[in-house]
Amino acid sequence: MDIKRRSFLKGIAGAGAGVAATPLISGTALARESYKLQDEHVGMLYDNTRCVGCKSCEVACKRANNLPVEPDEALGIYDAPRDLSEKTMNIIKMYKDEDETAYIKRQCMHCVDPSCVSGCPVSALNKQPNGIVTWDADACCGCRYCEMNCPFNIPKYEYNEFYGKIVKCEMCINTNLPKHGQPACTEACPNEAVIFGKTKALLAEAKRRIKESPHLYVNQVYGEKEGGGTSVLYLTKAAVPFSKLGLPSLPDYSQASASESIQHTLYQGLIAPIVIYAGLAAIAFKNRSGDKEE
Ligand code: SF4
Ligand code: SF4
Ligand code: SF4
Repeated sequence: MDIKRRSFLKGIAGAGAGVAATPLISGTALARESYKLQDEHVGMLYDNTRCVGCKSCEVACKRANNLPVEPDEALGIYDAPRDLSEKTMNIIKMYKDEDETAYIKRQCMHCVDPSCVSGCPVSALNKQPNGIVTWDADACCGCRYCEMNCPFNIPKYEYNEFYGKIVKCEMCINTNLPKHGQPACTEACPNEAVIFGKTKALLAEAKRRIKESPHLYVNQVYGEKEGGGTSVLYLTKAAVPFSKLGLPSLPDYSQASASESIQHTLYQGLIAPIVIYAGLAAIAFKNRSGDKEE
């Protein structure tokens, strides 16, 4: 028995080694590149040098998308969400230190190569031809992989509902966008701190602002490259870097391209499972032959 167990474990190790060796055989050949920003993609540019923190965009977002309020703790009469949640898919947050105050608008980034889409096992999340990342209630199975996969920690699940929904910004694709030609938040902003348009044009506009007033801005458009690029772009004031605003530092390739490359390499043509099954079958056969001899 011990001999059988030992040979079984040895066989597992052999099969595992075969799997581990698979990427070495063919790894880079199957690595896929991050998807690229397309001309027809739409997005937003948020510039915190123009934002006054009025939260009109938050209110407009809730109204347009029929989201409930999150009453403040003190009086219970104001909508005062503390973060993105199943009731809030757009929030203005404030950064403050001894010298500086800056705002940041958080919402779905509508990634160029979204890992929420890549990781969804039932294709409930989709990137539309115009670049907007949408969620399909009929397809969603509630697994919450998208919550775990998003590098920006955006999708929120309705844990209190029996058939919970995933809540995240869809750029008002079914609400304000068809009615008014732009999302509710950009329409409501009194200062054009957040504007809507074709993402490539917004990127050019962001670069123009930096060039025109280099003393005013950090010399970076967040979202141009981060995580393979996003359709929501950010400019921040020179004294407050993006890292202080809660925007993660990401490589210039998408998480989706990296993880799909690994998966495709491991499972290409079902080589890895075949190696495992072949290894296990060989061990079983050897053990049976041993039984017969005994
Ligand atoms: S920010 Fe997150 S939820 Fe939005 S598209 Fe990117 S990966 Fe998906
Ligand atoms: S685009 Fe629409 S859903 Fe998204 S943050 Fe703006 S108002 Fe909210
Ligand atoms: S409406 Fe405009 S100015 Fe007001 S908080 Fe939102 S982005 Fe800032």
